[in-house]
Amino acid sequence: MDETLFMIKPDAVEKHRIGSILAEVERAGFEILDMRLVRLRPRDARLFYAVHEGKPFLEELVQFMSSGPVVPIRLRREKAVQALRDLIGATDPREARPGTIRALHAESKGRNAVHASDSPESARAEIEFFFGDGAARR
Ligand code: ADP
Ligand code: MG
Repeated sequence: MDETLFMIKPDAVEKHRIGSILAEVERAGFEILDMRLVRLRPRDARLFYAVHEGKPFLEELVQFMSSGPVVPIRLRREKAVQALRDLIGATDPREARPGTIRALHAESKGRNAVHASDSPESARAEIEFFFGDGAARR
């Protein structure tokens, strides 16, 4: 069994989609190991997305991700990282396969409802970010 980090973003929280998104995740066979509701400060949003430092959309992303509460969730399943990426669909909802979480809930490439780790390495780091020692101050 592998773990991955899933996060419901501020646009989906604002639209009261937490319950239906979690239902889709549980239906796909994921086990919820831990979960929080937290409002990120801009500096923590920037830290979380440090791999995107220098990208033209980073400021917009940091502003969006700190604009309201997010729900980070620690998930477990067989082949969790790839299975969750398949379940959420492409970054841009216009390119997301029908039935995926982003096809159903995302508004745009920026406001795209959810995040999922893209590799086992980033899953470890992102789980640590929200659930490890020191995460309590976020
Ligand atoms: P993913 O979330 O699918 O792994 P990326 O890691 O490429 O996608 O990007 C991280 C997040 O940054 C995206 O989910 C999206 O919210 C935002 N983003 C990416 N590209 C753009 C863009 N061109 N314009 C606005 N926001 C973007
Ligand atoms: Mg990514």
